[in-house]
Amino acid sequence: MKYYSTNHSIDAVDLRTAVLQGLPKDKGLYMPDDIPLIMPRFFENIQLLSFREIATSVALTLLGEDLPSNVIIDIIDNAITFDTPLIKLDDTHYVLELFHGPTLAFKDVGARFMARLMKHYIKDTDQKLTVLVATSGDTGSAVANGFLGIDGIDVIILYPSGKVSKIQEQQLTTMGENITAIEVDGSFDDCQNLVKTAFVDKALGQKMTLTSANSINIARLIPQTFYYFHAYAQLKRQGNTEPSVISIPSGNAGNLTAALIAKRMGLPVKRFIAACNSNDSLAKYLHTGELVAKPTKHTISNAMDVGNPSNLMRIQDLYSYSVEFLRQDLLSWSFDDDATRATIRDIYKTYNYIMDPHGAVGYLGTKRYEEEIDRDSVHIILETAHPAKFKDTVDAALGITVDIPSRLEQVLHKSKQSLRMPADFEAFKQYLLS
Ligand SMILES: *Cc1c(COP(=O)(O)O)cnc(C)c1O
Repeated sequence: MKYYSTNHSIDAVDLRTAVLQGLPKDKGLYMPDDIPLIMPRFFENIQLLSFREIATSVALTLLGEDLPSNVIIDIIDNAITFDTPLIKLDDTHYVLELFHGPTLAFKDVGARFMARLMKHYIKDTDQKLTVLVATSGDTGSAVANGFLGIDGIDVIILYPSGKVSKIQEQQLTTMGENITAIEVDGSFDDCQNLVKTAFVDKALGQKMTLTSANSINIARLIPQTFYYFHAYAQLKRQGNTEPSVISIPSGNAGNLTAALIAKRMGLPVKRFIAACNSNDSLAKYLHTGELVAKPTKHTISNAMDVGNPSNLMRIQDLYSYSVEFLRQDLLSWSFDDDATRATIRDIYKTYNYIMDPHGAVGYLGTKRYEEEIDRDSVHIILETAHPAKFKDTVDAALGITVDIPSRLEQVLHKSKQSLRMPADFEAFKQYLLS
């Protein structure tokens, strides 16, 4: 399979290039040039398969031309080490919990898979990779953790000093091994500029192989298709065979893009909902057909604070730039923080279930669908983070104290190890060269 750029001004590349390069030179995004259909008989017995077995089948279908089966199986076995259970709220509402990975967010799935695929590509060369990640808090830990302990790859995380939460900082700075955290005296934009400047610096380019491993890497999207098939399997196991409506709390729309690819591969699903917070570019695009990038607004579902969702380029390409065509599969609405807090309370009162602010935005999307479209569908809401990751917000909304899972608790007691640095490229470059 070849991977083309959505800007269509460079030649298509192989998977290896797409993964190691991350971003095409023409500033588009890589997409597979053929989305293969899953064999219909796969769905007949899917309810009997484990998440890992489902992931393996889907990966073999997508990547079977590019990688030997044993390599694919090995990557899946090492990347998919946790479950994505489907929790029943009532007969028509289910929650797909995607937070059972090491950093308690769905990004663990993509990050772990990408790290192992990169490792495969460099293991027989004498290439050493250095992954640079700028983070505003949440995504950095999943990416870095995905690479933890992987030979031949060093990860350097840059985060703005004093601008990430205590839990996030502990997650970023206590991994050790091949992960180094740099605490930058500056903003997230400063961190991102340091990374961007490093990528185009000639001296650095000669001395080391830098890669970004960021959310737009195709290697992070591919594994995110797996859990949509797993959700269907679990729904079927519970006796529901009708295609469901799946609500996806969306920011940069990577999770959504993976969902649309899964549908193209044959996943039975009625429709998707892209549930957005006050950053409503995606919702506006679906309603008006026009894409207007906006400055990012800060919200309590901050992992979705994206004013200009980059994966929309992929979605537009997948739907031949027709918003009418896209609307057949996708609806989108935006919800503010007050509605999100009220919904965290409603879900707790109605179902005794504690939802994080991102999942709550997803649930709002489901409610709106029921009010405006139809009332007799079966719904799946994606829960993208564990509520304890957003403890202050959830505790305040519910007036209770959310339990911290032990794997997060452990991180809180480790000692912070970070390198403090000014937001100055020369200092950063000297560090990289040393
Ligand atoms: C990243 C993230 C999202 C948004 O996912 P996209 O793929 O960027 O749309 C939602 N919830 C949580 C908890 C996240 O970390």
